[in-house]
Amino acid sequence: LKPSQESLEQLLAFREIVDEAKARARLEQGLAELRSQLFASPYYRKTLGALGLSPRDLSSLDDLRAFPLLDRPTLGKEWRDLPNLDSADPRCRDAVVIRSSGSTGAPIRVLRDGYELLHMWTVLRFWAQILGISLPPSPKVVLLCTLPGGLEYTSSLPLLDDGTLIRVSTKKPDPLRRLLDAAPQVIFSDPAGLHWLTAQSQQPSPLLTLTSAQLFSPALRQALAEVNRAPVVNYYATSETGPLAWECLEAPGRFHLLHPEVWVESVDGELVVTRLRSSLLPLLRYRTGDAGAVKFGRCSCGHRGWTITGFTGRRACELQTPSGELVDAWQLAFLFKHHPLEDFRLTQTDLSSFELEVVTDASDLRDLSDTLVAALKVMGWPDPKVQARKQRSPFSRELKPEPFRNRFFSAQRAL
Ligand SMILES: [Zn+2]
Repeated sequence: LKPSQESLEQLLAFREIVDEAKARARLEQGLAELRSQLFASPYYRKTLGALGLSPRDLSSLDDLRAFPLLDRPTLGKEWRDLPNLDSADPRCRDAVVIRSSGSTGAPIRVLRDGYELLHMWTVLRFWAQILGISLPPSPKVVLLCTLPGGLEYTSSLPLLDDGTLIRVSTKKPDPLRRLLDAAPQVIFSDPAGLHWLTAQSQQPSPLLTLTSAQLFSPALRQALAEVNRAPVVNYYATSETGPLAWECLEAPGRFHLLHPEVWVESVDGELVVTRLRSSLLPLLRYRTGDAGAVKFGRCSCGHRGWTITGFTGRRACELQTPSGELVDAWQLAFLFKHHPLEDFRLTQTDLSSFELEVVTDASDLRDLSDTLVAALKVMGWPDPKVQARKQRSPFSRELKPEPFRNRFFSAQRAL
């Protein structure tokens, strides 16, 4: 509970800082923690040493420019050596390794300490507070999920005032009844879940709704506002970094950064993250693959600090089912997590045909194809055809990869 309370207080206190110099000075306090993480990190001892750098050279935000960028494949490869897992730090005991497919397709391993897994609940408390929402004691949170597979569970949320998390799957029978029975104060979902929600005959009455995909369109925001008055926080997070920013409710399209926890630079147009919050895993200039500019300023909503503008995150991809329904291809991302792939790309080539290209050492792709066919059936293709083939080298690493594509659409548009 202590790191959560401290983090909440720091997020709130940062909003009181008035000018850029003071805001920078406050963020630079966080560099001390980062320096000690870098000193302890076997990967950074080696990497910085080879460049003739020392963590001591990092005393201001401007100094960061001399430090190397960390890309996603390296984060995945060095997951064991980036943190110091041999230290006496008690966080080593409850750290877990997750497989992240995130928004970029090819899964990598990412280490998360115990608090990291729960940090989102602190950030939720921050958003509730700045939006003037008071959650009742023991609030109920529904995770509204549209993924094939229909996983449902209930768990407790000690960091959210002894709240309860209830995962409701729209793929199980009668999801609306379970959602209404849960009577949640908070709903977490994604655009697919929110589309489903706006189409329902009855509506729950949450105090706050959260969505994390960067595809949240003004049209969907409007449709949701018509059925539900709760504010919708569209946040920007990656599985490697945790939550980074949220979209302003007064000036949509602007993403306010979660200071003082992170520092985000725009390097040649790409958003690069340095984590200033205490964590077992140091994140120094991590390349997100997302594009945007970062500017300091004061917003009419009350935010002071840096804001991402011109944000373009993961590339949207809609697939079309034979009945004409459009579905978000990213619903399939989870499926690729469980296979040892270096990279993959799935393309819809015709109404019921898909091409799957994978970079892998595995000799047999049948298991993966079968799983994919089963998932496509659940999503609305009665008889999907998947042609899988191996690809020798990974797809472009430079910009955000494009693991889902729809060539069928472009062919239709050409006609
Ligand atoms: Zn704002």
